[in-house]
Amino acid sequence: MKKELIGLLPDELKAELVSLGEKPFRAKQLWHWLYNKGETDFFKMTTLAKTFQARLNELYTVTHPKIVTEQNSVDGTRKWLMEFQDGKQVECVYIPESDRGAVCISTQVGCAQGCKFCHTGTQRMMRNLTAGEIVGQFMAARDSYGEWPTPTDETRYLSNIVVMGMGEPLCNFENLKSALKIAMDGDGLAISKRRITVSTSGVAKYIPELADLGVKLAVSLHAPNDEIRNQIMPVNRKYPLDVLIAACKEYQKRCERRQFITMEYVLLKDINDQPKHAEELMKLVDGLEVKFNLIPFHSWDGAPFEPSSNNTMHRFAKILESNYFAAPVRRSRGEDIMAACGQLKSAKGKKDS
Ligand code: SAH
Ligand code: SF4
Repeated sequence: MKKELIGLLPDELKAELVSLGEKPFRAKQLWHWLYNKGETDFFKMTTLAKTFQARLNELYTVTHPKIVTEQNSVDGTRKWLMEFQDGKQVECVYIPESDRGAVCISTQVGCAQGCKFCHTGTQRMMRNLTAGEIVGQFMAARDSYGEWPTPTDETRYLSNIVVMGMGEPLCNFENLKSALKIAMDGDGLAISKRRITVSTSGVAKYIPELADLGVKLAVSLHAPNDEIRNQIMPVNRKYPLDVLIAACKEYQKRCERRQFITMEYVLLKDINDQPKHAEELMKLVDGLEVKFNLIPFHSWDGAPFEPSSNNTMHRFAKILESNYFAAPVRRSRGEDIMAACGQLKSAKGKKDS
């Protein structure tokens, strides 16, 4: 079977070519074709010698996930169903923002974390995605927008990556790291590390390492105390709040520059949405620099929770805001096409997960 090149780090690609008897600088040329130009056909890589093209074609493949369907929302959100070589699928979303836009990518097919409010959590964990499959989702998104070669920062449309799709990124950390290093490489996709956010359900062990990568951190906090968090997020039994908060502090200590952490908080009716919960939440994050992101709960068939009312959500936000915390109630984008992050593949249910 031919070997896949997408997902190899620069040094790995170099070693591969050296093993073929090629000069190391060839790896740089090839890298440029793969990640700056987005070329998948060796025979179109015109700066490479014909014999080298043929050799590569004999031994290797260059694969972007296949786009199976594409849906466009009235608000500019675009959602794709993407398929990998083994037929497994994930959804990927482009979310336009005031400062250009973010591509929301997945790290696993399914998820083993089993958060009670999350539809993905009800699905079986199928497998980790490879580094190539993780970064490949961004590349397929670029294919869809025709955004090759890599534009300058000023003109690019797909400017950010948020790792908020299906799966727990820190449970597939090695592959995630490789994928993000590839995405950040200045000669390729050139996504600045400041434009990458990783969201975790709280796998505390690896959180400080995100500071070394230089990426932003979002934590799916969702509860002000262990009692509630244990009830809705099984991960909390392994990494309770004191451990999670300590890991967040370590992350901030290790960050090169001052870096806010986004605390995501999904409001669940009568579970975590009362004023006393807001008060408790502020005490919990004492000593951290955080912004809150209040998320309306997206219900799904058979969900064990209900969304909080608008009034309750705004009352909650007001308490945080009057204590000088940023706490926007996140307007969910692409709702008409069910594109809210954390809701990916919801409508398709379990049959194809
Ligand atoms: N697994 C990672 C990243 C993906 S989920 C994590 O848990 O952080 C992205 C966000 O959507 C998370 O904050 C998640 O808690 C939230 N989410 C999941 N299900 C949701 C639902 N039904 N309604 C609203 N937000 C949800
Ligand atoms: Fe997995 Fe995140 Fe859903 Fe929890 S919220 S089940 S970690 S995808």
